[in-house]
Amino acid sequence: MALRKTHIPDMTIPFDHSYVRDLPGCYLPQAPDVAPAPRLLVLNRDLAGDLGLDPAALEANAARWFSGAELPPGAQPIALAYAGHQFGGFSAQLGDGRAHLLGEILTAKGRFDLQLKGSGRTAFARGGDGKAAVGPMLREYLVSEAMAALGVPTTRSLAVVATGETIWRETGRLPGAVLARVAASHIRVGTFQFFHARGDLARLRALMDYTIARHFPDLAPGDALGLFDAVTARQVALVAEWMGLGFVHGVMNTDNMALSGETIDYGPCAFMEAYAPDTVFSSIDRQGRYAYANQPLILGWNLARLAEALLPFLDQDADRAIDLANARLEAIAPAYRSAFLRVMARKLALPAPDAALSDGFLQAIAGADWTLAFRRLADAAEGRTAGLLALVPDPALLTAWLARWQAALGADARQRLRAANPAVIPRNHLVEAALKAAEAGDMAPFTALLAAVRDPFGAEAGREGFTLPAPTGFGPYVTYCGT
Ligand code: AMP
Ligand code: MG
Repeated sequence: MALRKTHIPDMTIPFDHSYVRDLPGCYLPQAPDVAPAPRLLVLNRDLAGDLGLDPAALEANAARWFSGAELPPGAQPIALAYAGHQFGGFSAQLGDGRAHLLGEILTAKGRFDLQLKGSGRTAFARGGDGKAAVGPMLREYLVSEAMAALGVPTTRSLAVVATGETIWRETGRLPGAVLARVAASHIRVGTFQFFHARGDLARLRALMDYTIARHFPDLAPGDALGLFDAVTARQVALVAEWMGLGFVHGVMNTDNMALSGETIDYGPCAFMEAYAPDTVFSSIDRQGRYAYANQPLILGWNLARLAEALLPFLDQDADRAIDLANARLEAIAPAYRSAFLRVMARKLALPAPDAALSDGFLQAIAGADWTLAFRRLADAAEGRTAGLLALVPDPALLTAWLARWQAALGADARQRLRAANPAVIPRNHLVEAALKAAEAGDMAPFTALLAAVRDPFGAEAGREGFTLPAPTGFGPYVTYCGT
């Protein structure tokens, strides 16, 4: 009997290694663990195509390459060093404790990092096991793909591979997994803090110039102020988008803020349902530091930490450097307010930002489902207000607001409202059910939810199960950091 030949299509990933080349001292070469029984759970074929990789050939290799079972040819795995303020307290050394950057891929849209997460302990692991569980890695995959479909800058997810290992978390024994993540870069505020904390100005300068060349090529090398302004602009825009969606990141530590302006590190994140400014999901965020309404303040706090790290390059005169930084920091809150009002103008289909109409709507929908309230504006624009009014505790307040809003609406309001306000977000109860089923070996609910969140602005018809809030009895929703 002839042995059947297994044919694995030939392919290579055309890696480049600019961190290795340009940033000595910012990383350590580290090898991923070898997964005992890797099994591909999900592969992002569209993203593979965007990266110039043949999806079919990648599928044949993904389980081995993206689990650490075997390195893709040309990979040069490293763990990046970084520091960070976590819940306000500073750690001078964090770094990739369980992640391996395989290399970068050059595409028409720029340079992207390809990183494994959950691929084993590194020299930065401290007490951690270096592992990740199927549930949290699929959660990152799902939510990051939802964010991309919603038009929010974000890292992407290329694949999740179950490793065949069992890992231990506070909730018990869990199946292990590795996420293959694609990011514009993995440079964080904490990366700058790492070298600032050590007084290593040469490496700090190299990191600054690398960041400028990679993300802000219009700036001249050494332009620290330009870099700070450019990062601020992107972060302000990013957090304004989060706020427009009711997204609670949950762990806005300085090591989880990327200079690229992408949303990064989907841990205890979740989307708010009933609108309440103090919404918190993460079990460890007991003070509400990263509550929904605090996110713009934390953005400013984190940018202040970046400004501190850049101080040596802002001006040769230390006092002048501090004055420059303070002036910039004072401008963040008004810049955020303008950005948020622009987001709200889009979501309310207003011809121009309008603080009174924006604030008035938020007041009127307190306690109502955030996503549905905005989505039902499309009907309300054409006089069908019952669906919207049914959501709120005080219909009279909203009725008065609707009259003012309808008078201010621009042309094509219905169409613009439906394009600006999603019908489908990753609803917490659906995410939990999908992850639970996946952990038990059934990927069908995950696949269905993923398809729904990939078309967030599409019609509701036939998708009612994905558009409605959690049934009563679900919640309060709590997320865990033990990812
Ligand atoms: P995070 O809360 O995921 O942003 O992680 C904060 C820091 O802890 C980073 O330095 C991570 O690399 C590290 N870390 C998180 N989980 C683990 C783990 N299971 N093993 C090793 N390091 C970890
Ligand atoms: Mg992190």
